[in-house]
Amino acid sequence: MSETPILRVENLSKSYGDLQVLKSVSFDVYKGETKAFIGPSGTGKSTLLRCINQLTVPDSGSVYLNGEEITHSGAKINEYRQKMGMVFQNFNLFDHLTAVRNVEIALLKVKKMDKAEARKKAMFELERVGLADRADYYPAQLSGGQAQRVSIARALAMDPDVMLFDEPTSALDPELKREVLEVMRKLAADGMTMLIVTHEMHFATSFATDILFMENGEIVERGRPADIPTSPSFERTRAFMGTYQ
Ligand code: ADP
Ligand code: MG
Repeated sequence: MSETPILRVENLSKSYGDLQVLKSVSFDVYKGETKAFIGPSGTGKSTLLRCINQLTVPDSGSVYLNGEEITHSGAKINEYRQKMGMVFQNFNLFDHLTAVRNVEIALLKVKKMDKAEARKKAMFELERVGLADRADYYPAQLSGGQAQRVSIARALAMDPDVMLFDEPTSALDPELKREVLEVMRKLAADGMTMLIVTHEMHFATSFATDILFMENGEIVERGRPADIPTSPSFERTRAFMGTYQ
């Protein structure tokens, strides 16, 4: 493919002491793709996402965003980070700010939008995740599913090139997972480029373009979701999933 990938991850490695958590991980992400990362706990999935947006500095390897290397880019990393929306397991909302304030705060402080413009954009993003009617609620007054949707709206407000989700539904009760997953499915359908670390196999396979199975710091299997049931390249994935035929 001659098109430049939105994200290129090249030979990323990271160790903590004697433990090598990432072992030369490489992959490309093209516009509109949704890559789902699965695998046992402790295999480096969170570390991978953190190395991509440089919350963690990799020992070696490179990350390119739209063809520009962002690894070891010094102060400019803040600029690049705005283009990578991050959604965490535990929402990371400001408890003392309402939903709409949570979404608009970076627009005011980082993007330097004026108040009216920031409010309009924040409301647009809350509408997009189905929460315009909760704009004035504080995080404590929201369900976990709603709080996670606010954090998705907050990331979307920065108009990111790619969204990184680290187990976005793991902290939620089963009935609340669904509303978050539906928002993510809609984003994928709208053409958002996404990397999702998840245990929601069934859901991930229903809308991801690729499945990447990680074990001990490596991507050991990868391919299209449709190939999981039968392809030899998904043997370990099938064993991990257990119930898959
Ligand atoms: P996963 O998200 O797949 O569960 P992580 O990337 O969180 O895995 O962690 C991979 C391994 O790296 C684990 O053994 C974890 O304990 C270790 N690890 C992660 N972050 C740190 C850190 N800041 N310091 C030391 N060890 C860490
Ligand atoms: Mg993790």
